[in-house]
Amino acid sequence: MSIITEHSLACDLLVVGGGMSGVCCALAAARLGTQVILVQDRAMLGGNASSEIRMHIVGATGLHAGLPLSLESREGGIIEEIRLELAVRNPQRSAAVFDLILYELCRAEPNLTLLLNTTVVGARVEEGRIRDVVAERPSTEDRFTIAATMFADCTGDGRLGAEAAVPVMRGREGQAAFGETLAPEEGDAKTLGSTILFQAKQHHRPMPYVAPPWVRKFQPSDFALRPFGKRGSDLGLEYGYWWIEWGGCLDTVKDNERIRDELLAITLGIWNHIKNESGLDVSHWALDWIGMVPGKRESRRFVGQHILTESDLMNSRAFPDAIAFGGWPIDLHPPEGVDAPTEAPCTQNHLRWLYDIPLRSCVAGNLENLFFAGRNLSATHIAFASTRVMATCAAVGQGVGTAAALALKAGVIPAEIASSSELMRSIQQRLLRDDAYLIGRPRADADDLAPSAVVTASSEQAGGEAALVLSAQTRAVHGPDVVASAAAANQWENVLAEIATGKATALYTSAPPDRAAPGLHRWMSEPAARLPATLELRWAAPVAASEVQLIFDTGLHRFLTLSQADGYTARMEWGRPQPETVRDYRLEAKIGGEWRVIHNEVGNYQRRRVHRWAEPLPTVAALRLVVTATNGLDHARVCEVRVYS
Ligand SMILES: Cc1cc2nc3c(=O)[nH]c(=O)nc-3n(C[C@H](O)[C@H](O)[C@H](O)COP(=O)(O)OP(=O)(O)OC[C@H]3O[C@@H](n4cnc5c(N)ncnc54)[C@H](O)[C@@H]3O)c2cc1C
Repeated sequence: MSIITEHSLACDLLVVGGGMSGVCCALAAARLGTQVILVQDRAMLGGNASSEIRMHIVGATGLHAGLPLSLESREGGIIEEIRLELAVRNPQRSAAVFDLILYELCRAEPNLTLLLNTTVVGARVEEGRIRDVVAERPSTEDRFTIAATMFADCTGDGRLGAEAAVPVMRGREGQAAFGETLAPEEGDAKTLGSTILFQAKQHHRPMPYVAPPWVRKFQPSDFALRPFGKRGSDLGLEYGYWWIEWGGCLDTVKDNERIRDELLAITLGIWNHIKNESGLDVSHWALDWIGMVPGKRESRRFVGQHILTESDLMNSRAFPDAIAFGGWPIDLHPPEGVDAPTEAPCTQNHLRWLYDIPLRSCVAGNLENLFFAGRNLSATHIAFASTRVMATCAAVGQGVGTAAALALKAGVIPAEIASSSELMRSIQQRLLRDDAYLIGRPRADADDLAPSAVVTASSEQAGGEAALVLSAQTRAVHGPDVVASAAAANQWENVLAEIATGKATALYTSAPPDRAAPGLHRWMSEPAARLPATLELRWAAPVAASEVQLIFDTGLHRFLTLSQADGYTARMEWGRPQPETVRDYRLEAKIGGEWRVIHNEVGNYQRRRVHRWAEPLPTVAALRLVVTATNGLDHARVCEVRVYS
């Protein structure tokens, strides 16, 4: 008799893989009332961002961040909530606290069941639908059969889709396959390689390092294009080197154990070179942590209803079924990694415009009920080289989770969502309501009572008038002038120049002009009028309000991510709330001619705040937001107000 205990579980949406795409997908769906199971094969959530691997989360802010009040391209929604939470609650930059915050967010959702240390190993497909999957948890000798109406493969490696026989793309497509100028002339099976990061610490006494005999030997010429040992950038010893890359010429799934062994030999060999051969003054530095799990950049990419291509990104093609956006450069690496010392470790092909990611790139082409999000998205190798960064994966995850939740309510299968324009519209409006950004898409929510109000304020700045809380956009993305955002390639050179001179090179990625909706899109009170500052919404006839949603400014032009790199972190507001954000405020409602305080908030640092009342406030003639303090700025800023009954 088997010692394994069998379990049968069922849910609306099964999310497989708890990296940033899977976590955001599961949270989005669960918060919208979907019964979700999230299956993650590791002990912690976060995938490549977890304490096991420690990559920092980047996205559309690209290499040079944005510009205050004109280019705010940091992702909104759940990933912004996570970043703000981390910035305040993890000032010490602990990798383990990152894991815990993701765990806490998932545990807080009553509709979300989290299965850690559990691996999906098989899928049963009948009549074009996945019916259930088999998942194993060896640590407790349990096996689960999990049935669901919809499934989302967020495993990075595409294990669920592969088990369900979804066609996959691997390696690099040749130029002719999709008309891509950045693709190699001939296609091949090579991918981006994997990496093991390390962290070193400086001590008060010399810390010798004796390398084991199996480490690789390196010459200075191996690093002609791979700098190391410089402080003040992501090239520091405290963070390791993303360019310690290897395995792209092998199968990053099947050969993962071999890749790990070789990466350990390479990483320790480089550490040995730094410590004992480089001549750098690193005598007091010692290894503190080294990863044992290779961070995987690329493995399977699925063939979905649409394959995202270089041209979609370069031309910022507008998709009617957009559920997320991207903006990281097309970031290509030599598959040989450190074995190609005469090639730059990456080539950053700048994107002039932010671009749409359509739902159809997240839906299987040959099955009715499978979504995918994250690096296994339906994209060519070239497009994936931009979409793969984790804040973009997270935004796609939220888009897929939202689409699943609304499609379940509407009784529409994933394969048919994109062709239902009414459902697509409601998915996009829900995403906007939840503070996701969709290029050029205005808020248009018939249930929202705020647009029918007249808005005034105690004071306002030119360009930051009170009425802009109803401008239907919540950020500025028009960017600098076109000349400054001219396209260029190989930005790695610029990164080096930036490090050397301390100046950023002006390569910005803004919204395309035809969808940019220029403007500040927020109320900004007048600094001279000081705080408190008051924003008032007044209706011609009283309304019944039971929910007020506020979107505050959180400095979306800046970098914000948990990073082990000191220099990168120095460019953020880390360890504290963002200074633009309203900290203390109260909400007042005018009911029966009297102003009543209906909510008091102290110590806010989040961008999206929702306040609900169990019973609607029946006769609200006016609503007042009184800002009494910010987290640093000398005036109040509010990007949006929504009111629901
Ligand atoms: C060295 C390196 C540097 C990078 N640099 C950056 C960077 O600076 N910033 C950035 O944003 N991105 C960076 N990337 C890219 C980014 O990390 C990945 O593209 C990203 O992690 C993709 O997120 P994901 O959620 O799709 O997958 P992952 O992060 O891979 O998460 C998938 C999760 O699913 C789990 N899983 C897999 N199979 C199963 C299964 N069968 N059952 C259950 N769970 C399963 C995995 O264990 C994993 O935890 C880098 C990647 C690497 C490797």
